[in-house]
Amino acid sequence: MFTLPELSYVVGALEPYIDTRTMQIHHDKHHGAYVANLNDVLKDLPQLLNQPIEDLLRNLAKVPEMIRTKVRNNGGGHANHSLFWKILGPQKDSEPAGAFVVAINNTFGSLVNLQEKMTAAGMGRFGSGWVWLVVCGGRLEIMDTSNQDSPLMEHKIPILGIDVWEHAYYLKYQNLRVEYLKAIWHVINWVEVEKNYHEALKARG
Ligand code: MN
Repeated sequence: MFTLPELSYVVGALEPYIDTRTMQIHHDKHHGAYVANLNDVLKDLPQLLNQPIEDLLRNLAKVPEMIRTKVRNNGGGHANHSLFWKILGPQKDSEPAGAFVVAINNTFGSLVNLQEKMTAAGMGRFGSGWVWLVVCGGRLEIMDTSNQDSPLMEHKIPILGIDVWEHAYYLKYQNLRVEYLKAIWHVINWVEVEKNYHEALKARG
């Protein structure tokens, strides 16, 4: 069984950048539905139901074809949002540090350049999807995916993900995705992203 993780901060902690109502609906209703749908579609397949979500997504080919799209969409939704809540946090304007910031500077020139590239990727993603900072072959990369597809499906390890579905920003920012993408950097928890980076290197991502 997959379970909806609790937020590690109060639902209004990301104000004013991400509003309380959006967080409530996004976490409880959207993410909640992905988890419920995933558990429902796998209810008769305990070997698929009782494994880490990352393993399920890395091995979608093992999922019966009849239910594979549902597992891809809802399983991706569960993994993506579980990461998303963790890489956000109430401590405003944190910054990456240590070996991680060196890797960012070596790969992208600076943190500002990384943020600009991810914002551009988020703006370039037509319709619903995600923009990602991933580790692949020990290196940092920016990528984007459609719908609820996860970098795990391409055997890349996501360490930071930004949801660009309209449900992530519409109540506060309406059609202005770019304003949401500028604001969200204030509430990125770089300590958590850095932790993800080191774990990804250890996993040989
Ligand atoms: Mn979402």
